[in-house]
Amino acid sequence: MSKETITKKTIITNKTDYKKAPKIELHCHLDGSLRPESVLDELKAIEYANIDLDVDKIRELLIVPPNCSSLIEYLSCFELPLKAMQRKSSIERFTYEVFQDASEENVKYLELRFAPILHTRMGLSLDEIIESSINGMNKAKADFDIEGGIILCCMKNYSEKSAIDTIKAGEKFIGNGVVGVDLAGPEDEGFAKKFIEPMKLARKLGYNITIHAGEAASGKNVYDAITLLGAQRIGHGIRINDNKAAYDIVKKSNALLEVCPISNVDTNTVENINLHPVFDYLKDGINISINTDNRTVSNTTMTKELNLIDSVFGLDMDSYKKIYYNTVESSFASDEVKCRLKRNFEEYYHELLVSKK
Ligand SMILES: [Zn+2]
Repeated sequence: MSKETITKKTIITNKTDYKKAPKIELHCHLDGSLRPESVLDELKAIEYANIDLDVDKIRELLIVPPNCSSLIEYLSCFELPLKAMQRKSSIERFTYEVFQDASEENVKYLELRFAPILHTRMGLSLDEIIESSINGMNKAKADFDIEGGIILCCMKNYSEKSAIDTIKAGEKFIGNGVVGVDLAGPEDEGFAKKFIEPMKLARKLGYNITIHAGEAASGKNVYDAITLLGAQRIGHGIRINDNKAAYDIVKKSNALLEVCPISNVDTNTVENINLHPVFDYLKDGINISINTDNRTVSNTTMTKELNLIDSVFGLDMDSYKKIYYNTVESSFASDEVKCRLKRNFEEYYHELLVSKK
């Protein structure tokens, strides 16, 4: 689709109900997307957890406070979820529920990510942890109209060896539930250098690679993630506008930016949604997708993100179609699944045209 069509409004314009539209989500963290009711259940089931909380208090602890000032503060909302996710059954349950929640708002394909190393506190092996999440996903795929895959996060604030352990543990699940690997957690300037060897191994083993970069630190990290680590996609990447080399390489390589608008406001990466660069990027031909990042922590859904973008920037159907198709192409799905996802959109678009006549 040409750039001109992005701004040209069609007869199907504003006030689209994005709940009904088929959606693709590529950047969603399992531990940031838990149902508060289920967290309470799981905490009660753990003997050591001294529970003096009701579901409202749990919800309050899981959702980022309005005065959150940084990514570091935002990440503190993950402590309670992690406590509740140290057993095979809980990992399976939470994974199932996130896929279910996504399917209920017409997300047709979800790449769900989490860091297995954070779930070893009660003795589970990395292997058991990864398998549990795949089991939860597969059950949801059988029960609901949704496809997807698991992305394994390595933590930037953990050792190089820890990343290698995760990458090796996930190897046998590649193509069988696991679709890629990521680097997540607090972002320092120049973090990529520490992870050159792990990501070299990941590429050799056949992983797809997406890296969180250009969120809490500069666009230079995005440049490094692509050139030093072989990232095919970038988690966030919205700060590429402070580094010309980063901007140019993203545009030239067509690396997809997994943009998470509400999370970016929550972490103070952008001051308010009106200042978010996502639409400028789209208009300039940068490959972007829209995502939630964390459904619970950011108190959001794909529908909410898209409706917000529509209300602030005017997301006409041509622009949405472009985002949808680019997102399908940049997903780590099989060709067969990609075809089905495109068909989902065509059917929806056809119905929309008919209903407007
Ligand atoms: Zn993220």
